[in-house]
Amino acid sequence: MDCLFCKIAKGEIPSAKVFENDKLVAFNDINPKAKIHILVAPKKHIESIKHLQESDKELISELFFTAKKLANDNNLQGYRLVINVGREGGQIVDHLHLHLLSGDAMGAV
Ligand code: AMP
Repeated sequence: MDCLFCKIAKGEIPSAKVFENDKLVAFNDINPKAKIHILVAPKKHIESIKHLQESDKELISELFFTAKKLANDNNLQGYRLVINVGREGGQIVDHLHLHLLSGDAMGAV
């Protein structure tokens, strides 16, 4: 499958990985929108939140707990978690991922 984040997960394309286990990978965004901008993605190819199945419940839970762990590891006092869904939702890469953003004061959404 010709998917950028699948290739990053498999190590076929280089990335600045900050976390990896058997289910998830996290790496620095190549075009950071904040001082800290980490992407957390399942290794399994899921196109977007729209494509989630009941069987993905545990994986999605792990996605959020991993974001929390990375925030703790980076000693972040406050942060924003974002998941873009579909083109109209700002999603560019069609492989589900969570943005962890921090480092600048963020206004309310
Ligand atoms: P989204 O708009 O939610 O699909 O976010 C995709 C994100 O992937 C953007 O913030 C891009 O800067 C980021 N991105 C694209 N290519 C790479 C790459 N090779 N390594 C790391 N981040 C990337």
